[in-house]
Amino acid sequence: MAGTKTSTEPRDERYDPQRIEEKWSARWQQQPELFRAEPFNSPRPKYYVLEMLPYPSGALHMGHVRNYSIGDALARYMWMKGYNVLHPMGWDAFGLPAENAAIQNNTPPKQWTLSNIAHMKVQMNRLGFAYDWSKEVTTCLPEYYRWNQWFFLKMYERGLAYRKKSRVNWCPECATVLANEQVVDGCCWRHTQTRVEQRELEQWFLRITNYAQELLDDLDRLPGWPEKVRTMQRNWIGRSEGALVDFKLDGPAGPAGDKIPVFTTRVDTIFGATSVQFAPEHPMVADLVAGDHKLRVKVDELMAEQRRAKEAGDVGDIEKHGVFTGRHAINPFNNEKVPIWVANYVLMDYGTGAIMSVPAHDERDYEFAEKYGLEIRVVILPRYEGEPPAAGQDEPPLLPFTATNSMLINSGPYNELSNDEAMKRMAQDAERGGFGKAAVTYRLKDWGISRQRYWGTPIPMLYCDGCGIVPVPEKDLPIVLPENVDITLTGGSPLARVEEWVNAKCPKCGGPARRETDTMDTFVDSSWYFYRYTDPAITTAPLDPKAIAYWFEIDQYIGGVEHAILHLIYSRFWTKMMRDLGLIANSEPVARLFTQGMIIKDGAKMSKSVGNLVIPDDMIARYGADATRMYTLFATSPDRELDWQDAGLKGISGFLSRVYRFFSTASQESPLESQPIDRRILRKLHQTIRRITEDFDGRWHFNTSIAALMELLNLVLEERSGGEIEKHAFMSASVLRTFQRNFLLLLHPFAPYLAHELWERLGETSNLLREPWPKYDPALAKEDEIEIVVQINGRIRDRLLVPADSSEEDVRRLALAAPKVQATLDGQQVVKAIVVPGKLVNIVVR
Ligand SMILES: [Zn+2]
Ligand SMILES: [Zn+2]
Repeated sequence: MAGTKTSTEPRDERYDPQRIEEKWSARWQQQPELFRAEPFNSPRPKYYVLEMLPYPSGALHMGHVRNYSIGDALARYMWMKGYNVLHPMGWDAFGLPAENAAIQNNTPPKQWTLSNIAHMKVQMNRLGFAYDWSKEVTTCLPEYYRWNQWFFLKMYERGLAYRKKSRVNWCPECATVLANEQVVDGCCWRHTQTRVEQRELEQWFLRITNYAQELLDDLDRLPGWPEKVRTMQRNWIGRSEGALVDFKLDGPAGPAGDKIPVFTTRVDTIFGATSVQFAPEHPMVADLVAGDHKLRVKVDELMAEQRRAKEAGDVGDIEKHGVFTGRHAINPFNNEKVPIWVANYVLMDYGTGAIMSVPAHDERDYEFAEKYGLEIRVVILPRYEGEPPAAGQDEPPLLPFTATNSMLINSGPYNELSNDEAMKRMAQDAERGGFGKAAVTYRLKDWGISRQRYWGTPIPMLYCDGCGIVPVPEKDLPIVLPENVDITLTGGSPLARVEEWVNAKCPKCGGPARRETDTMDTFVDSSWYFYRYTDPAITTAPLDPKAIAYWFEIDQYIGGVEHAILHLIYSRFWTKMMRDLGLIANSEPVARLFTQGMIIKDGAKMSKSVGNLVIPDDMIARYGADATRMYTLFATSPDRELDWQDAGLKGISGFLSRVYRFFSTASQESPLESQPIDRRILRKLHQTIRRITEDFDGRWHFNTSIAALMELLNLVLEERSGGEIEKHAFMSASVLRTFQRNFLLLLHPFAPYLAHELWERLGETSNLLREPWPKYDPALAKEDEIEIVVQINGRIRDRLLVPADSSEEDVRRLALAAPKVQATLDGQQVVKAIVVPGKLVNIVVR
C-alpha cells in the first residue's frame, strides 16, 4: 500500500449510502423533536405542508416515495427559510383490504392494519422523511373515529345527515354499496372487471348538496389550485340553470296526482314541446300503466334496458326506446295537449325524472322524434345582430337547431324576443301563474356514506321498536368496533351478526334497541384528518380552534390527481360544515394544491399484474434513500408523468458519489490568498442559489434545481481533473469553505442524509435543518460576459461574447465590427441595427 493516497487519507473514499443513512436515521429517531412543529403561539410565521396520507397496505410504493420526497424537500426548505413548519403524517387506516386480508391470512383487521403501519413507518424513517410523529393520526383508532361519530350526530341534529331508501351501486365482489364516484366505466373502482349492479337499500346520506353553490363559488377563490382540478370539480358539481314548469295530466289522476313538474334549461323553446317523457321509474308511470298489461310489460323492458346501460356505464349512449302511454299532458304556456311517453334514456335522478321533448331544438329529442314520428316544430331562429334577416335567411335552420343566440317564433306572446329575454320572462310568468319558476339543478348528489362493512366507523344510531330511529347520546361515544368478528365478504354487514354488540338499550325509553350495523365510507375519515394533526391528543373536542386558527389554511397540499374530485370535494364540504358548527373560522381547507404526476415504467402504470413494479426497498438497498428520493425529483418536473429508468437512478447515485468524493478529498491546504478561479466559482455558486431558490418559490422544477447542482459540482471537478486532485490547489481556502457550506445547504432538501453527513465532516456543529437558506448576492451572480446573437435580416450570422455591462451603443458597434458580420455584409448598406439588450443585435441591410 506504500505510496498510495489512502495512507494519508483518513476517510473512506467510497460513498457508502447504507452506512451514512442508517447512522443518521438512527440519530433522527433518537431526536424526534428535531422535526416537531413549534406550538401555535410561536412568533415565527407558520407553514403547513401536507402530503396525502397513505392507506396502510403494508408497503410504500414508488408513487408514495415521489409524493413524500416533494413534500419533504419543501418542508426542509421552509424550515431553513425560518418558518415554523408543520409536516405531519398519518394513516387512512379503515377500508376493505384489511377485511380481505383477514379472510386470506386469518388475521384480525386491526392487527393486520397496525402491523402494516409499523412496517411502513420503518420505511418512512429509512427514507429520512422529516415528519413530526408527535402529530400522527391513525383513523381506525377510537380516539380518532369517535369524532367521525360526533360529527355525524351534529349533522343529524341539523338535518345534514338523513336516511332514505335509494337505488345504490352495488359491487357483488365487495358486497357493498359504492359511491357514484367509485363506479368506473360501469365497474367497481377496486374490481375493474366486476360490473356494478343497482339495488334498493336504506342508506345514510350527508346533505352535501346544501353546499353545492358555495362549493362551486369558492372554486374561484382558490388560485393556488391547478385549473384542471377546479374544472373537474366544477363539472362534478354540474350546475344548470333553467326553469321548473308544471305540466298537467289530462284526464283522471291516480295516486301520484296530476302535476308533472319538468326541469328544462331551455324554457324558451317550450312552445316547441311536442311530447312529455317520463323516466321508467317516474312515480306517475305506475298510475298510467295500471290496468294496461301490455304497456306495463313494455315499461318493464325499458326499465331493464336502462338498468343494463347504467351497469355498463354508458347510459349516455343508450339506444333510445320509448312507448306512448295513451295519455296526454297539458302545456301550461299554451294549453296544448301533448302525448306522454315513457323513454329509456330519461333518468329519474336528473331534474324531476320527466322532461318536455322539443325535437326541433335538442339533439336527443330530435333523434327520438325522428324514430317515432313525433311532430317537430321550429320555435327559434338564428338571430342576426342589429339587422333584420336578409332575404332567404329566415329559412328554417338546419335541425336540430340548438344555438342560444336565437329569436323566438311560433311562441305566442313571446315571438321575436331573444332567447335570453324569453327565458327570463317565461320563468317570471310561470311563477306569476303558479305553474313554475326559475330553478337551478346540480349534478352533485348527496353523499351516501353507508357501507355494509366491518372495518369502518360505526354509525352512531339506534333502532327502537317504540321510538324509531334514535341517535346515540354524545356521552356514549365512541361506539367502539367490536373485535373478534367473523368476517365474510357476503351476506351484508359482519356487525349484524355480533349479537352482544348489536343489541343495546334505547336511550329514550330504556327498551331494547338495535344498533346501526352499517359503517361509514372511509372518505369520511380523510375529510378532516388534517385538522386533527394540529392537536391529535385532544380528548374534549375534535380539534382546538386556536390551533386551527394558527395553522389553517394548509399552505401546501400534495397528492395524486386521482383525488381531485372526491376527497377534495368532501374535504371542502367538511370544512364548511365545521365552520357552520362554529368550530373553525376558515371556509376552505387548502390554500395551495399540487398534484404530482404518475410513475410509469415500460410505457405502463406500475402494477403487480403488469410486472413492472419498482420496489422502494430494493432501490434503497442498492442505491440508498437519498439517491432514490432524488431520482424521483430529478427524472422530470414533479407535475409530469415520470418514466422510470434504472439508469437514471444510477446516474443520481453517481452524482452523489462524486459529491462525496469531492468533500472527502478537497485539499486541507488550499492557499490563503485569493486565486484566479475564485470569482468564477462564486459567480456560479450564486447563480445556482438563485436558480434553486426560484424553483422552490415558483414552479418546483426540482429537476432543474438538481441539474444546477450537478453543473456547480462539475465546475469544481473540472478544475480538479487530470488526476491532479490532491496536488492542485486551485481555489482559496475561504472560497472552498464558502463553496462547501453552501453546496450542502442547497443539497439538503434533496439528499438530506449525505448533506448532514458532510456537514458534520466539515466540522459544522449546527443543525442543518435550522441553518438559514443561503441568500444569493446579485452582484456576485452577475455574469462578466454575456453571449449576444448577431442576425442579419433575421438570420443568425454570429455569436459574440461582450462585457455584461456593455451599453447598447457598444454592443451595436461590436456587432458591426465582427469579422464574420463584415464578411457577410460585403459592402451592403446597413439600414439599421436593432439591439435587444442582453440577447441579440439584428442588422437590417438592403
Ligand atoms: Zn368491488
Ligand atoms: Zn325507545
